[in-house]
Amino acid sequence: MERITQQKIAIVAVLESAESPLTPPEILSRAAKAVPRLGVATVYRALRALRKERKIVIVEIPGEPPRYETATRGHHHHFFCNGCRKVFEIPDCAAKWAELAPPNFQVLDHEIILYGKCPNCQGER
Ligand SMILES: [Zn+2]
Ligand SMILES: [Zn+2]
Repeated sequence: MERITQQKIAIVAVLESAESPLTPPEILSRAAKAVPRLGVATVYRALRALRKERKIVIVEIPGEPPRYETATRGHHHHFFCNGCRKVFEIPDCAAKWAELAPPNFQVLDHEIILYGKCPNCQGER
């Protein structure tokens, strides 16, 4: 198998089994078990190719490094913990956001990020 193909398969497998979106260094440390001698430049190259193929999507949180997740997860949102700076997946979309738009405006999409503290971080000051 071509090496880039092997790397892409390993990265997709890492993102499929991840509980939340991952940064490239996190992807590297998890994929390195399956692909020895994997480097961060290669991870970026494979991520670019996988985005072009629409197998993965980027999760952008202002002020945070880009994270990646598989494109197969469907519509969902994210919770960002201000304590540990981890990102958690929110599987639901509760509100009718389109109703917040001014009259005669057509809403095509929305991005919602909830900020706060995860259970682990609530005990700290
Ligand atoms: Zn936390
Ligand atoms: Zn939504």
